Formats: sequence, structure tokens, C-alpha cells
Amino acid sequence: MDAPVLDYMRRYKFKKLVLCNDSDVGLRAVIAIHSTALGPATGGTRMWTYASEDEAIMDALRLARGMTYKYAAAGLNMGGGKAVIIGDPKRDKSEALLRAFGRMIDQLGGEFQTGEDVGTTLDDMEVIYSETDHLVTLPVHCGGAGDISPATALGSVEATRACAERVWQTSDLKGRRVALQGLGAVGWSALGMLLEQGAEVVVCDTDEEKVARAVGSYGVRAVPPAEIYDQDVEIFAPYALGGIINPQTIPRLRAKIVAGSANNIFADEDRDAAALDSRGIVYAVDYVANSGGTILDTDRLRKGGLQRDRAMANVRRIFTRTQEVFQIADREGISAYLAANRMAEARIDALNHVRLLG
Ligand code: NAD
Repeated sequence: MDAPVLDYMRRYKFKKLVLCNDSDVGLRAVIAIHSTALGPATGGTRMWTYASEDEAIMDALRLARGMTYKYAAAGLNMGGGKAVIIGDPKRDKSEALLRAFGRMIDQLGGEFQTGEDVGTTLDDMEVIYSETDHLVTLPVHCGGAGDISPATALGSVEATRACAERVWQTSDLKGRRVALQGLGAVGWSALGMLLEQGAEVVVCDTDEEKVARAVGSYGVRAVPPAEIYDQDVEIFAPYALGGIINPQTIPRLRAKIVAGSANNIFADEDRDAAALDSRGIVYAVDYVANSGGTILDTDRLRKGGLQRDRAMANVRRIFTRTQEVFQIADREGISAYLAANRMAEARIDALNHVRLLG
């Protein structure tokens, strides 16, 4: 019999796939555990109207594997996992469903830890918390880090500074011209930090209220979203959507650097990373650059519980991690993307080796 899921799991060395069902509350969920080599498999819980169960399973598997790389590259002692609940978060979510899901997580005894993602909120995590302790993102009143977007912004700006050093031999952003796409939770914080460091920023957002707030608060220049790629800037800073670096936008970019917080910036990783390389444009690898929030909210799992100073010092290390990615890329003659993957894999392999010996 054809078994594409198990084939995929074998190919990418997955550990476990858990299918959850509770007919009484309408829960159908998938928990994918990719790796626990560095620590418990960790990743958000997504709630989405998947067209089929196969689609939900493959999404959980793909995202879980991405988390393994993200944590390893961020220097965190956690493995990769992801959960998806099949359903419409607006229509199908209920306290009973979330609690039933919390009990499923609890039965895994800490092998999987979760947090919010598309379709779930911090409030949902509080409900799940009533059934299990195995959560990473929690509100402050439950002992969690609360809003992590400023930490994500700080890490992304640190990655931007590391890119600046690669291009101009100085990480100073004073006077650098930046085009910032997206003034949401992370983009807004990043805008403040970039301005504080003396950058000149042109902004855009599809939400006119946010644009008006930026112009009103900071006196920055704003352009329509469709024109952001054409700006005469040195740094293009994506803080909105994925897939925005693609064959349509790359020829329009005038920047020497692409660095921000947006996830999956390339429409096609291999093709678009190579296109940036061939144009001599330096980019920050997204999952290294945007790991600041994760570093902050998972600090509560470390010795002594959440310590903001320790966490923020670790967020600032995104600067040196981004430099390390460039060093690997130069040494091995590969793209920064592949270099980041190698950096993550090397860490997982080293610790597996230690465990085998120990
Ligand atoms: P958000 O939803 O708060 O903000 C996104 C902003 O982008 C919104 O203001 C939205 O109006 C705007 N936008 C949407 N389409 C746009 C377009 N075509 N042009 C310009 N603006 C557009 O999201 P966020 O939490 O600030 O996250 C921003 C990015 O960073 C996302 O890609 C997210 O996956 C990534 N990220 C966020 C975090 C975090 O801590 N929140 C962590 C890691 C990665």
C-alpha cells in the first residue's frame, strides 16, 4: 500500500505523528513531533479549515520540521513540533474543544509543548493551560512572557545590523535608508528601533490607520504598498507577508540588504535566494532573524523560570548568529539559506553524538 506520510516521515527523520479525536466536542487534531534531540518538541497550535485530513497532516509535518531548524539555529534547547486543529476558529472553537486538546497534549507527558499560532490566541492558551502545563506562550498573569513582538523586532534589527556590517563593514544604521513593509505588531516596534538608531525609514501598510499613526507619531514618509519595492533605499525590510521576494519583485529592488521579521520571505527558497545572491543582495535568513520572540517566550522553560534580562541578552545574540551564518556560507561556498540549515543540523548532530556517548 502507498504510504506517503510514512515515506515523508522516514525521509526527514520524524519521530512521531499523533492523531487526536474527541467526537463529543468535535475535536480533530494532529500533533507532529519531528525531533526531540535538543529538548521537548515545541511549536504552535494552528487552527485552520483544511480541505482534507491529508492536507492537515502534511502541514503539521512540514511546520514541525521547520521548528526543529528554527530552535537549533536560535541556540535553544528544544526540538521541533507542531499541532493543527482542523476547523474554523471563528465557528468551531469552544472551551470544551480546547480543553480536550489540552488533555491530549498532557498525555504526551512533556514530549510536546505548544503556544499560539494562526487561528489561536493567547486567551486560548490560557484555556489549554487549565489542562496541561506544557505551554510556552502564556499571558503574563500565567507566568508567561506576554507580548513577544518587541523581542522579535529587536532580533530582526540585530540581524539587519549584521547584514549592514557584511555590506559596509559597519553595523551602524545611522543615515541608512530603509523601506519597511508592514506596520503590525513587529513592524511598529522595529520602526521605533530603526529610527532610534538614526535610519531614514519609508513605510507602507495596507491598513491606512497604521500608516497615519506612523506618519503622525514619527513624521516618516509613507508610500502605497505596491510601490514599496521600488524605493531608492539601501535596506528592504519585510515585516508583513511571506513570499514577497520573487521573480516579480527582485528586479525592482534597489536595496543592498533584505532583512526583517516576515516568515518565508522567498516564494521559492532555492530560486529566489540564488537570484538575490547573483544580484549581490545580502539577506538575513528569516528564521534566524525572527527568532527573538521565541527566545523570549521559551525562556520560562530554562532554569529559574522566565528571566527577561537573560532572554533579551540571548535575543541580541541574533547579531552573532547571523554573522555565523555568513561565515559558513563563505567557507562552504553556499547560500546563506543552506548555511543556516547547516548551522542548525550541526548543532543537532553534535548533541545527538554527546547523547550517544553519554
Ligand atoms: P501583524 O499581523 O501584527 O502585522 C502585519 C502587518 O502587515 C499588518 O499591519 C498588515 O496590515 C500589514 N500588511 C498585510 N499585507 C500587507 C501588504 N501587502 N503590504 C504592506 N503591509 C501589509 O503581524 P506581526 O506579528 O507583526 O508579524 C509580521 C511578520 O513577522 C509575519 O510574517 C510574521 O509571521 C512574522 N513573525 C512574527 C513574530 C511575532 O513575534 N509576532 C515572530 C516571528 C515571525
